[in-house]
Amino acid sequence: MNPQYSYSFNSGDGKNKALLGGKGANLCEMTQLGLNVPPGFVITTQTCLLYLENKLLPAGLLDEVREQIADIERATGKTFGGASEPLLVSVRSGSAISMPGMMDTILNLGLNKQTLTGLIEMTDDPRFAYDAYRRFIQLFGKVAQGIEDEKFDSHFNEVKRAAGIKADVALNSEQLQEISNRFLKVVHEETGKPFPEDVYEQLEIAIKAVFNSWLGKRAVDYRREFHITPDVANGTAVNIVTMVFGNMGDDCATGVGFTRNPGTGANEMYGEYLVNAQGEDVVAGIRTPKPVQEMAQEMPEQYRQLVELRNKLEAHYHEVQDYEYTIERGVLYCLQTRNGKMNAAAMVKSSIDMVKEGLIGKERALLRINPELLEQLLLPQLARNHHNQPIAQGLPASPGAACGKCVFDADTAVRLGKTGEELILVREETKPEDIHGFFAAQGVLTSRGGKTSHAAVVARGMGKACVAGAEDIKVDVRSRIAMVGDILIKEGDLITIDGSNGNIYLGRIPTIPPSFSEELKTLLSWADSIAKLRVHANVDTPETARLAASYGAKGVGLCRTERMFNAADRLPLVVDMILAQNTEEREAALAKLFPIQRDDFQQLFEAMSPHPVTVRLLDPPMHEFLPNEHQLLDEIDALKHYLTIIKGQRVTLETLAKPHELPAPFNRLNEEVVIDALAKKQMMLNKVLELYEVNPMLGHRGVRLGMSYPEIYRMQIRSILEAAARCVKQKTPVEPEIMVPQVITAQELIKVRQYVDEIQAEVESQYKLKLNFKFGTMIETVRACTRADRLATTAAFFSFGTNDLTQATFSFSREDAENKFLPLYEESGLLQDNPFETLDVEGVGRLMKMAVELGRKQRPDLKIGICGEHGGHPRSIRFCHDIGLNYVSCSAPRIPIARLAAAHAKLLEEAAG
Ligand code: PEP
Ligand code: MG
Repeated sequence: MNPQYSYSFNSGDGKNKALLGGKGANLCEMTQLGLNVPPGFVITTQTCLLYLENKLLPAGLLDEVREQIADIERATGKTFGGASEPLLVSVRSGSAISMPGMMDTILNLGLNKQTLTGLIEMTDDPRFAYDAYRRFIQLFGKVAQGIEDEKFDSHFNEVKRAAGIKADVALNSEQLQEISNRFLKVVHEETGKPFPEDVYEQLEIAIKAVFNSWLGKRAVDYRREFHITPDVANGTAVNIVTMVFGNMGDDCATGVGFTRNPGTGANEMYGEYLVNAQGEDVVAGIRTPKPVQEMAQEMPEQYRQLVELRNKLEAHYHEVQDYEYTIERGVLYCLQTRNGKMNAAAMVKSSIDMVKEGLIGKERALLRINPELLEQLLLPQLARNHHNQPIAQGLPASPGAACGKCVFDADTAVRLGKTGEELILVREETKPEDIHGFFAAQGVLTSRGGKTSHAAVVARGMGKACVAGAEDIKVDVRSRIAMVGDILIKEGDLITIDGSNGNIYLGRIPTIPPSFSEELKTLLSWADSIAKLRVHANVDTPETARLAASYGAKGVGLCRTERMFNAADRLPLVVDMILAQNTEEREAALAKLFPIQRDDFQQLFEAMSPHPVTVRLLDPPMHEFLPNEHQLLDEIDALKHYLTIIKGQRVTLETLAKPHELPAPFNRLNEEVVIDALAKKQMMLNKVLELYEVNPMLGHRGVRLGMSYPEIYRMQIRSILEAAARCVKQKTPVEPEIMVPQVITAQELIKVRQYVDEIQAEVESQYKLKLNFKFGTMIETVRACTRADRLATTAAFFSFGTNDLTQATFSFSREDAENKFLPLYEESGLLQDNPFETLDVEGVGRLMKMAVELGRKQRPDLKIGICGEHGGHPRSIRFCHDIGLNYVSCSAPRIPIARLAAAHAKLLEEAAG
């Protein structure tokens, strides 16, 4: 027996998208729900595959189609191909996955010379009928017979020109008839056959065309682009639906609606409609639609039907719906419904409301929101209705939008910032010595560097917008200008950057401020009560710690102490420490840094009290704190030049007489100052050359520094423990954790632990108390993963540094990869995702899993977290949950995302059984 090739909307299984396609299944579901859907049927995706295999419609299909049409005729009282009350249908494709634009829809199928007369009779509107006819011929010709639009359009325009008409709506029925006749000729010429008069022949051709479109170039490209494989969607279904007309008179209308307001989430009727119009008139914007509320007066009975439709949709789908409808002669038909896309605030509000209304439970309220969407709520966004075009694009390095005057260096930023100016710091790339400029600016734009460049990482930590690596922008700091092609941007010119997509605009675009609403707080409290993972924050200052706590962080998972070294008032002390000629000199410089660090830590502990704070000992290579070689050579040259001028000045009476003619700073400098400065710069240069490394990220950094310069780590350990002791004294509960970076062997940890033990004893006796803290390690080298059991003998906690671990596992750096070959790798499918954004579960994840197992075998209560960028990424959070981590740590703005994602991880695990 033949399989069943088609299902009427009354009988198809609304859940079987694989067989009926998304659209077909949906039409079946709506029909069986009792909604007034125009009668119709679906030909299955399996039939499509049979056709494509045999290049022949399966035997029996057309008989089935005739039976289905007969059912529709009975239901509507209309006749397919009939001279009176003709039945017209639309024919649409629809696979299991929506593939917009794969194939156009054919409307008004069933029109021929005979049914046209019937339609005129039925509507008493020849203009309407000829308009429908000419549209059908063109669509059928194009979609089913492959005739280019251009062939029809030239005739259309000719008739318009001859009649002296500009707008299509001004064409009368005679002109539309003339156009229809010309179109019939086009089809005859192009296909060698007259336009099919037999309506079943029309239908057969259209069905085959839809099937063939599955293998058309557009569809194949689309599937490749979006990784739609046969297990996801195989073949297209064909939907054949009775045409209903919203343009047959004043008792007709067409409209679109949302079951709730998609801008605010409010539970109210929302949408627009047009009386006596077709769906495309609403979209094309030829006439201005009216708000749906007006229908209550204009068409009260239909409005009542619409309210009922909306209530049924939500009650059934338990989700906000975006729906389309047509009213034909007073009867409301629902044509389509799908889950409504809303902004983050509206999603959150509707989740809370729907739980209160008893429509959904808390789990569903959480699961219906994509965690990434919450980012919108914590950062300024560009106003949604702006129409500005970007002048350039870089990498979206730190999300949020910012607008301000361009400044090309940090000092100017600070100077102008003090006057209350809003600023964007524009640099080729940023360095630690630019840090004060970050504080002063609203956003940062660089023309070089990737998503982990200094600018990106620092801006993210501060929650400021950053666009990095905008290579089309040529920054000329000396001339204080930047060029984008031939667009000139001067210092002080306003620009706007959008760190969420990397766009850069000229001028000011208004931004919408962030809001952390009561509704969001409620939603996230539900998330916390479900999640197993705790969420900590990567922060370095008390202000950001407080901000993170207000977003719901339950601890600091990573405080990068080098950020504290970088602050403007500390950098000179750090430089002194690096330039020290011996241990005593270094200790003297460290002694000055010590109280500053201790106070920093104390404030951080207070800000996060009573939650744990993980402080990482110094990580980056030392030369990062010094200016680079070229900059130093330039400065040395300049100083040498000053010296000759000053010396020359001394001896000539003339220069002495005219000191004002010397460039401004020179005449105030005396020789000793210049000589001093020169010596210092020369020393710095020597140090830079001494510290030079071919590959600093794989060189003398992290715990390796702690081994070579124990006095630096000792100072930091003392700062942490004394800060903790001070908190204890003032009865502030603290849970400090000391974390060692870049560890490769247990021996390193044992050594640092010795410093800790010694200093702990000293601090405890000095403050006369017992300290409670944890000692642990970052896991960010491959060896650390393979030796995790050994490390766990000394470490009480692990924190995965997946930024470095990814770099180490892939053996390439993020900056190089993202700027060069990674896009190609992703596009050509060599890699599925950017591993620096989405945790590489198969590679890096495997190492992590091994480390978790080895570590917990040694120490069952080992606390394990992640503090690489992946800690704020929902899919990676799911993996962290699955391998049994205790917490994830991420930057402050991502905390709500991580809280929701942690709840999703638990719920999805349960759902998977
Ligand atoms: C890491 O490597 O993942 C990490 C958190 O450390 P950093 O990014 O500071 O190297
Ligand atoms: Mg690291």
